Amino acid sequence: RGKRAFIAGVADDNGYGWAIAKSLAAAGAEILLGTWVPALNIFETSLRRGKFDESRVLPDGSLMEIKKVYPLDAVYDTPEDVPEDVKANKRYAGSSNWTVKEVAESVKQDFGTIDILVHSLANGPEVTKPLLETSRYGYLAAVSASSYSFISLLKYFAPLMNPGGATISLTYIASESIIPGYGGGMSSAKAALESDTRVLAFEAGRKHRIRVNTISAGPLRSRAAKAIGFIDMMIDYSLENAPLQKELSAEEVGNAAAFLASPLASAITGAVVYVDNGLNAMGVGV
Ligand code: NAD
Repeated sequence: RGKRAFIAGVADDNGYGWAIAKSLAAAGAEILLGTWVPALNIFETSLRRGKFDESRVLPDGSLMEIKKVYPLDAVYDTPEDVPEDVKANKRYAGSSNWTVKEVAESVKQDFGTIDILVHSLANGPEVTKPLLETSRYGYLAAVSASSYSFISLLKYFAPLMNPGGATISLTYIASESIIPGYGGGMSSAKAALESDTRVLAFEAGRKHRIRVNTISAGPLRSRAAKAIGFIDMMIDYSLENAPLQKELSAEEVGNAAAFLASPLASAITGAVVYVDNGLNAMGVGV
């Protein structure tokens, strides 16, 4: 049987989540997506109208099939955690069962088990503010959406995962080196995500025999990255300074994720894997 993957954090065809879905589909995996509730309508409409058909083309010429799209808001674990104003919000009221626990239950009902869990989501409401100007609310919101969301997904999906399964998240070098402009506590959130990758690799490895890794990806002009405001500068900086002087494609990150999710990587867990044209290895710009 082919593998089944649940990829959280796909709402268009520009980001890393979409590219990872494609690489996994090309390797024969069945694709389930978790899409942020407020973005669900436009994503499903665009899918249905064929707006993504060009980017659904796989190397063998066939189109990536998306088996099912689940609404998801990864900052809420259970229905009891959802505040009244969010429940009443028109965009949320139109969907149901989108807390992490409920999505895991729905996937279990629909498909029984999965083999691969991908976390490709982040959100920091104050990302454009320097850390020194970040509010407590903004900081905690960044960690909730970008780091705890992975713990929550793993907690509720691990019982559905077949032994030998793999999980992957996406991180950024700002966790360990100063990247001015990556603010709002997002650097802290990525540091937490990387540390959690190690601890969860131990816990989930022992308890469920699954692997936990994170990919530290170079800059990509995704929707989320454009919202930060400095992505073009980061891409230019990488082109100028990285060992490999080429633009990083989302597909290169997708392919690394497919490797990490496969039995070829069966002894790799608790790792931060750099897919960034080698930029992380530089000490100074040249
Ligand atoms: P993206 O916009 O394609 O993906 C982010 C997704 O997160 C969006 O689909 C958004 O709808 C979703 N999301 C936000 N809050 C959510 C929530 N509460 N619940 C569920 N979904 C939610 O952008 P991307 O840049 O491909 O981001 C994917 C991952 O890659 C993120 O973790 C990001 O930090 C990481 N990353 C990106 C870059 C880059 O340069 N683009 C570099 C390194 C790491």
